[in-house]
Parts: sequence; structure tokens; C-alpha cells
Amino acid sequence: MNALAATSRNFRKAARILGLDSKIENSLLIPFREIKVECTIPKDDGTLVSYIGFRVQHDNSRGPMKGGIRYHPEVEPDEVNALAQLMTWKTAVADIPYGGAKGGIGCNPKDLSKSELERLTRVFTQKIHDLIGVNTDVPAPDMGTNSQTMAWMLDEYSKFHGHSPAVVTGKPIDLGGSLGREAATGRGVVYATEALLAEHGKSIKGLTFAIQGFGNVGSWAARLIHERGGKVVAVSDITGAVKNNNGIDIPGLLQHKDATGKLADFSGADAMSSDDLLAHECDVLIPCALGGVLNRENAGEVKAKFIIEAANHPTDPDADEIFSKKGIIVLPDIYANSGGVTVSYFEWVQNIQGFMWEEEKVNRELKRYMTNAFQNIKGMCKSHDCDLRMGAFTLGVNRVARATTLRGWEA
Ligand code: GLU
Repeated sequence: MNALAATSRNFRKAARILGLDSKIENSLLIPFREIKVECTIPKDDGTLVSYIGFRVQHDNSRGPMKGGIRYHPEVEPDEVNALAQLMTWKTAVADIPYGGAKGGIGCNPKDLSKSELERLTRVFTQKIHDLIGVNTDVPAPDMGTNSQTMAWMLDEYSKFHGHSPAVVTGKPIDLGGSLGREAATGRGVVYATEALLAEHGKSIKGLTFAIQGFGNVGSWAARLIHERGGKVVAVSDITGAVKNNNGIDIPGLLQHKDATGKLADFSGADAMSSDDLLAHECDVLIPCALGGVLNRENAGEVKAKFIIEAANHPTDPDADEIFSKKGIIVLPDIYANSGGVTVSYFEWVQNIQGFMWEEEKVNRELKRYMTNAFQNIKGMCKSHDCDLRMGAFTLGVNRVARATTLRGWEA
């Protein structure tokens, strides 16, 4: 199912559970603003190449719109729309004072040199600079972008509006980034996993984990799980997959990937097919890559007892139904991966205050937000007799609907 159809279906289901007025329901679904811009840059060899950039600003009833910028060949309007909508519910679940947005450029960043990426980022920023802002819409990194991308965006934006570090988050520390932001999404995934496992009388130590995706989120999650005594038995990324039933030495695998650029040929693990990873024998499966990877075709093969959605919308609604029948517990994306945007909020707060927090404080506050959100989701599950996905959706949608209603409709 297309990402937008799947996200909207979950939203409508939550709206029905909440008994939302149909007019509010429809208005919450339609994005506030959709931006599409042409970005033409000269390549290093002098030839011109054009890309399409998007920014979808979904909702701002709870605060400035917030969400990442993705550089990926599959970036297209429906997907950006779905991801922007998910950001609205995610920031509401986390209870941080933001709305939701998402942007991206349809390109393969691996095919572009550093100077081409810089030109592309600057052109994109020139095209959208008057529609983003500290109190309007605050971009951040996502797949294919990083702190350097944010540094270029900040620099370009500042040419038009003066120095405004809080206009983007996920910046390098030297430009006002927050300590702990780089690891935040993976760390949040681990705090969320701990909260869920504790409910079931379990802890990370001694359980087995399969991790799909070894980029920023997957590698941080793996590292922190390994530190806590969890056994990471399988890992995959775009270059391949490896397994070791006794647990992979994650620091060793990270070193190997740094040195060789791939997972294969790591002496401490055997090669396996990436396609088999999702069906690998383990207690906890953590998809950390693209959307829609768990679907009607492969959901029946999953052996994990818990799925932690570190990626955005990795589970298709059809797969959700299969998991529910099999008794597999799914911790939904709008909660599980909210650690990144939560520490983005801390970064924005620090920039506005002109005061830098210690990393220990960032991590402590992140844990507090993740734990509170989990308790609030459980509260919704109890009052509406629903699963964790609907618990999270009803929590987020209800908060946004309340803010929208309080603001009123008079023009
Ligand atoms: N791209 C991340 C996400 O999908 C972080 C967004 C942010 O920090 O604004 O949640």
C-alpha cells in the first residue's frame, strides 16, 4: 500500500476511535502547505542537472512545523506527504510544542560530490527560505542528509535573514548543535524498547535482536543494545547482511564498516541474504531503513516477538493485521523513533536560550520524554482497548485536534 494511503488509513481509524467530528478529521488530513521547487545546479564537470525539491508543511496548530529533509532517489510527493503527516502525530505523541513537516530532494546523494551536494542544498534553501523559520518551520536531517547539510542550510538561510541557528536542528556542535543529537534517534529507540520490554517483565540483556539498516539510527541502536548486554544476531544495510547466533561484536563491526565501507567479510560474523533478515530467528526485530518493508508478502515469515519501528512507516497495514493475529507486538514509529525530533527540540530550546546543556542532561531529559510518552500511550490503549499503534495515533491525533479546536475557525 502506498505510504500516504497507509498513514491516512491509520489516522482515520484513530479519528473513528476518538469520535472526531468529520470536518475536523478532514481538515487534519489535508496538509497546510505543499511546496515543490526546481533545483538546477552545475555538476563538477560543468553540465547542468535539475532536481525536484519538496517541503510539505502538514500542521502547525501545536507550534512551528518540524521534520527532516531527505535526499533519496525514491523521494516523491505522496511519500513526503505521508512523512509530514507522521511528523505531526509524532511531535504530539512526544508532547513537544511543534507541528509536522517533511522535505526532500529526489536524488541519489551517493552519486553527487561534496561540492555538488553543497550547491544543491544551497539552491533548495534559496527556493524555500521565505517559507521556513525559527517559529514557522524548522528542518533537520533525515535519510541521506546530515549535520553538514544543516550547516549549509543554516549558512544560506542566514544570508537572507541574519544569523538564526534555531532555524535548523541536527547542526554540527560548532554551529550550535546539541550534544547527544547525533545518537538521539537510536538512543530513543533503545529507551522505547526498554519501556516496552519492562511492561512484559523483560530487559534488553540476554534477548536477541535483528537490525535492518546500519546507518545513523541502526548503528546507534545496535551499539547501545550491545552495551546493555543484548545479543545482536543479525544486521543488514544496503551493502549486504551478516549474522552470528552468539551475538555480533558491534564495536568490531562498526570499525570494519568504517574501514571497508561494507558489512561483508567481517571476521566475527557469517554472510547472509538481506532478504532473510526480516524473517531471522530473534526476540526483537528493529527495522531502521525505508518504509513499507514489512508487508503482506513477508509478514507471515517474521519470527520476532517484538517489532520496534525505528524507521518511518516500515509496517504496511496488511502486515499489522498479520502481526496482530500472530501475537507479535509492534511498537509504532511515531513513538519509537521520536528520540531524534525530541533532541531536535532540546537543540532549538538551547539555541533560543543561548545556553548549552551537558550531554548527560540531554540524555536524561530524552529518557524522561520517552518514558512519559510510553505511559501516555498505554493510557490510551487502556481507555480505548486498542493496540500500541492506535494508542499512539489516538494520543497524537487527540492532542492536535484539541489544539485546532481551541484556536477556533473564525477567519
Ligand atoms: N528526520 C527525523 C524524523 O523523522 C528527525 C526530524 C527532526 O528532528 O525534526 O523524526
